[in-house]
Amino acid sequence: MRREDLKPIKMIVFDVDGVLVPRGTKIKQVGNRTTFTTKIIARRQIEQIRELSRRGILINISSGRGLYMLQEMFREVLPFVSLTYENGSATWYRGKIYQHINSFEHLRNIFPKLKRVVNKNIKGFEPKELIITIHCKSPVKEIEKIVKKDKKLYTIWNGEAYDIGIKKDQTKALGLRKVMKIFKLKKRNVLAIGDNHNDYELLRGTGLPISADKSRVRGKFYVPLEGKFLPADNLMRKILSLLTSNQK
Ligand SMILES: [Mg+2]
Repeated sequence: MRREDLKPIKMIVFDVDGVLVPRGTKIKQVGNRTTFTTKIIARRQIEQIRELSRRGILINISSGRGLYMLQEMFREVLPFVSLTYENGSATWYRGKIYQHINSFEHLRNIFPKLKRVVNKNIKGFEPKELIITIHCKSPVKEIEKIVKKDKKLYTIWNGEAYDIGIKKDQTKALGLRKVMKIFKLKKRNVLAIGDNHNDYELLRGTGLPISADKSRVRGKFYVPLEGKFLPADNLMRKILSLLTSNQK
């Protein structure tokens, strides 16, 4: 990546898991009791996000996770970011919520059917408002079969969970389009980084797509997932150094 590539960029969109924090969610559900661990972004990333924001770059966090969890993870940088959650379903910005899609009628009938599936590989349903997320130790064919019967719905297996939502519409690309409208940006003004299948539409919708896992999603540039630094760390260091060298 060169300085010229960054010239039109006004916003950076970050996926969360596998990009800003390591992959993997610890979740356990027994009857009505759900327990899970919240990850918080590291000090270094907090500083990097603040620095980018100081330089006038907008930061959007786009995740499959729920808003309550993203607010906890990004508590320290909330004044500097917008949060697009549950695969583009809605966006939080400075306390205001923009809902991008209403999935209620689409998902309400399938939810009880999925709840009835008994399989030792199912770990639990992650609390969500607008999509359905089921954590599993490995893929569960019965879940896929149930969802497939409804032609309007998708399942995405991300290696640790299924996300279920409305095909084509309820993706991170929807969130991106709406966020671009809120901030009056064009495709060429946006750089996005993601590592997984649910980032496909998001990356395609930006001028500068960056992949953190070539085996799952393609980008114009590639930042490795393995190694000492998180992909977001590597990317932000690179961008900040390019922006700084320009000033000299
Ligand atoms: Mg991810």
